[in-house]
Formats: sequence, structure tokens, C-alpha cells
Amino acid sequence: MSKRDYYEILSVARNATEQDIKKAYRKLAMKYHPDRNPDDPDADTKFKEATEAYEVLSDQQKRAAYDQFGHAGVQGGAQGGGFGGAGFGDAFSDIFGDIFGGGFRKGPRAGDDMQYDLEITLEQAVNGTEVDIRIPYEDTCDACGGSGAEPGTTAQTCPTCGGEGQVRIQQGFFSVARTCPTCHGRGKIIKSPCKKCHGDGVVTKHKTLSVKIPAGVDSGDRIRLQGEGGMGEPGAPRGNLYVRVRVKRHAIFQRDGDTLFCEMPLSFATATLGGEIEVPSLNGKARLKIPAGTQSGQRFKLAGKGVKSVRSSRVGDLICEVNIETPINLTSEQKALLKAFDDSLHGKHAEHSPKSHSFFDAVKAFFTGDDDKDAGAKDKK
Ligand SMILES: [Zn+2]
Ligand SMILES: [Zn+2]
Repeated sequence: MSKRDYYEILSVARNATEQDIKKAYRKLAMKYHPDRNPDDPDADTKFKEATEAYEVLSDQQKRAAYDQFGHAGVQGGAQGGGFGGAGFGDAFSDIFGDIFGGGFRKGPRAGDDMQYDLEITLEQAVNGTEVDIRIPYEDTCDACGGSGAEPGTTAQTCPTCGGEGQVRIQQGFFSVARTCPTCHGRGKIIKSPCKKCHGDGVVTKHKTLSVKIPAGVDSGDRIRLQGEGGMGEPGAPRGNLYVRVRVKRHAIFQRDGDTLFCEMPLSFATATLGGEIEVPSLNGKARLKIPAGTQSGQRFKLAGKGVKSVRSSRVGDLICEVNIETPINLTSEQKALLKAFDDSLHGKHAEHSPKSHSFFDAVKAFFTGDDDKDAGAKDKK
């Protein structure tokens, strides 16, 4: 089945602003929200379609990928299963959460999504790894079984909300749910709170999770651990935990997407005569041919020695920039040899050092005023 264009779904122009996109989605979501069209499966499809379109177009990175590659650009490769950001519920609460206070939802509220920032080395990012992380999480208090009441006592149903935890306020044609001010959403009044959880019914515990990091991840990528987020209301699922990756600086390599860069010192003699040097790459050493007459700052590409993309089977390149190192601490004998070599170039700069030659010509012209004459001649044309 071919998918509809996201811009078409939201009826916005391809250059629509973030605000336009938000407005368009909001209009459609109000119209097609399943809670308002319980017997219309078509509305549900349209709601999901609009939410998906909004998910992509409201995210700068995803939108850019979609603009360039279409649907293929935002679906992720076979390996990208864990990626793709938050579920659609998030896009929805992103816009409506603050206004409706969850009033659109039926039943208990799912837990919040949480984020964990994980720092890994470039090698781990490139090759993939498995990392144990220790995270705090909320769990039902085992002393009171989650009631919040000291064992042996019972909580009473809140008289304000009748145990609902929410009170409804009419606003225009919407009935807006607000957390009950008497019981703060619990639906119960606790006279003697549980000592272990202080009446919350929830305690903080710690657990260790093993996180699989797929090869090729980069800073900013997120890995979703379904159901490892915040605790939901009774009967509702937990939120998700998003592990956000940050790749540490590397001593040798800099990374830009799938491309790796490194700077290599190169001896004056090898640069002049040519030769083969050893360069580091993330999967061992590689050989690089240096042609005779190589200049400082020249770049060489080692195809396929970069990073394997996490979203496709593409492998990037390694770019090596060479910088010629001026020899230091020479003996008088070495200095004499170099001097003799330099003398041998006398009068032949045009042939052996074309850059210096043309530069010093320009300098000479500058001091003798020849360049003014040239400029004047050009102006007359
Ligand atoms: Zn307790
Ligand atoms: Zn209440």
C-alpha cells in the first residue's frame, strides 16, 4: 500500500512553518480523535495518519530526511528497529496535554517516558556494544501494597471526587478533567500514612538494565526500552525509557555522520619523495600511498574505513589530512646537508617551488608598485 504524502495529509505547503503544521494537525486531531468518533473506524485511520504526519514534520531532523528521501527516509533500516523517537501518543500529548489535562483519555493514565543520557566511546558507537545501566524506578510499596495507608488501617474514599481522583469542569463544549484538589488525584484520603512510602503507595527502587547499542549510533540517537519508564496509574502501562547516546571525543578521530577524519603528521622527506605510511583506522591499521610532491593539508580518502551507518548498509570513508612536519633539533651535519640542498635550488624556484615563486613575484610587484599599474590597467578596461 502506498503511503500518502505527509504534507498532503495535513493540507499544508511544503514550506509550512512549525506553527502552520501544529495548527493543521490540531484541527485534524480535534476532528478525528477516536474518543469523539467512537463508531467510525475511518476517523481512527485518519487520526493515526495525521498523527504520524505530525510526528515527522514537527521534528526538524525527520522532516529534513522526509523532504529528501520521502517515506523511506523516516522509516529507518532493518537495524533501526529501536529508533524513531517517541510513540504517537507523545505527539498528541505534546499539543493537547497541557490544555486538556489528559481529559481526552479514557481510563488510567500510562506512565511518563523517561530519558537516560549514556556516554559511550567512539569505538563502542562504531562497533556496537551492550552496556549495563543502573536506573531508579518507581514501584508499588510492598509495605502497604500501594494503598498508602499504614498496614492495619484503610484509606477512605475521597468525598469530593467520589474516588475518581478527578473533577470535571465544563469549558465551552469540552468537559475538562482536573486533578481533584482534596485527594490530589488519589481518590482516597489517608488518615495514617504508610511509614515506608509516606502515603504515596510508591517507593523508589533501583534496577540494572542491559542496553544493546547498535553499531553506527551517533550522538543524539535514542534507544527505546519499552515499558521501562515511569509507573502508570493502576492498570495502565509504564512509560518508555529512552537512552540518549552521547559519543565522547576521540583522541585521533573526528566523526561527521558516517565519515571519519584524522590528521597525520608527515615527514618532509616522505612528502617530497613519496612513499607508503601506516594510518590508524577503527578496525586496525591501514596503508596509505603518499605520492611524491604531497603538500601540507592535502587529504586522502580511504574508502570504506569510516563508520557503518546505523540506518542502512552504507559504510562511510576515512579522510586523512596530512601535515608536513618541519624537522627540529638538527645536528650541524644535517643542517649543512639541508643548506647544500637548498643552495642546489638556487634560481630554480619556478621549477621546484612554484607556490613560493609566484608568491615572491607578487611580493616584489607589491613593493615596486607594479601591482598598482596592473590594477590601474584593469580598471581602464
Ligand atoms: Zn507504603
Ligand atoms: Zn478526590
